[in-house]
Amino acid sequence: MSFDIAIIGAGMAGASLAAELAGRASVVLLEGESQPGYHATGRSAAFWSESYGGPAVQPLTTASHAFLAEGGFIAPRGALHIADDDGLGELDAFQAAFEGSSVELNRLDAAALAVRVHGLKPRWRAAVEEPSCADIDVAGLHQAYLKAAKQAGADVYCGARIERIERDGGRWRLGWADDRVEASLLVNAAGAWADEIAALAGLAPIGIRPLRRTMIQLATIPPAPPDMPLVVEARGRFYFKGEAGGKLWLSPHDETPEPPGDTAPVELDVAALERKWAGQRSFVADRLPVYGFDPADAAFFWCAGQGGFGIQTAPAAARLCASLLLGKPGSVPGTAIDPNTYSPARLRR
Ligand SMILES: Cc1cc2nc3c(=O)[nH]c(=O)nc-3n(C[C@H](O)[C@H](O)[C@H](O)COP(=O)(O)OP(=O)(O)OC[C@H]3O[C@@H](n4cnc5c(N)ncnc54)[C@H](O)[C@@H]3O)c2cc1C
Repeated sequence: MSFDIAIIGAGMAGASLAAELAGRASVVLLEGESQPGYHATGRSAAFWSESYGGPAVQPLTTASHAFLAEGGFIAPRGALHIADDDGLGELDAFQAAFEGSSVELNRLDAAALAVRVHGLKPRWRAAVEEPSCADIDVAGLHQAYLKAAKQAGADVYCGARIERIERDGGRWRLGWADDRVEASLLVNAAGAWADEIAALAGLAPIGIRPLRRTMIQLATIPPAPPDMPLVVEARGRFYFKGEAGGKLWLSPHDETPEPPGDTAPVELDVAALERKWAGQRSFVADRLPVYGFDPADAAFFWCAGQGGFGIQTAPAAARLCASLLLGKPGSVPGTAIDPNTYSPARLRR
């Protein structure tokens, strides 16, 4: 029960990192639930959008595309960012933020928008089309990472909710119930619980805030075309997309702060509601992810704060974190990723 690297949390972050590290170091992946993927990872809206999260997240999303496409984990959809009169300023600012980047964004007028999404009210005046937006097979990707990690020699324990973290002769000792493991390096990939893990290890928090996000599935008349684009309101008030079987997935874009936990949607009085769920998107203050060693402890590594983009960025983020953990330069070859952007040091200045 002695390893080079112990990773706490087997959601998308921990699983993808374990897969990148296994075979190059001895790895143990520790998950508190009886199955990995129960929290944020199992509750996402499952899209890949290069613009989502803003220009500082985009290099991670873009760099993840090749892995996702080669593995057959994404399917084309396209997105439309729509604005009424009140949202035109936000739409302009959104488009301007990506000018000069590799993200293709095309302006549409009201007539072109009406052709793309039937039934939209005339008050939606303009849109920006993001053709590259895609759906992600989240469960398939997560399972593929877990399988790859195990095949390359990683040990995976479920039902291992870490309650004790001690330091013994420079090695970490992680305990749950009557069990424990030892490791040289500790990776905190505990999602909404990331600050609680730091506290167990005697380190300062990074200010993780879990924010509840609700999703609902509606039956519509006529049925929503499954290939309709992802439609995102420019002021961030809602998004929706068509799903298999003529269903519509919709989010009211809520961000309710709450303690880390097994969140549930609030009561909704909506006709044609078929299903609803909620998950926690966990952010630090600047809403960028946190990847790197803690400035106060060179054996404690943060892999947290993935907010609403932790699935679409996972392949590149896992490669970046693996290279940092293995003492490599910390860049991902052929990408525009700057590891300093995501360093925990920025939060302690
Ligand atoms: C409604 C919603 C829609 C979203 N849509 C998208 C989207 O379309 N595209 C996208 O890219 N992202 C999306 N996201 C964001 C994405 O789901 C998250 O960024 C991602 O799942 C975070 O992964 P994670 O592994 O960090 O967290 P989690 O999946 O929450 O995993 C953390 C794990 O750590 C475990 N853990 C915690 N404490 C301990 C402990 N003490 N011991 C052992 N284990 C512990 C937990 O049990 C949990 O399984 C969405 C999120 C939500 C909620």
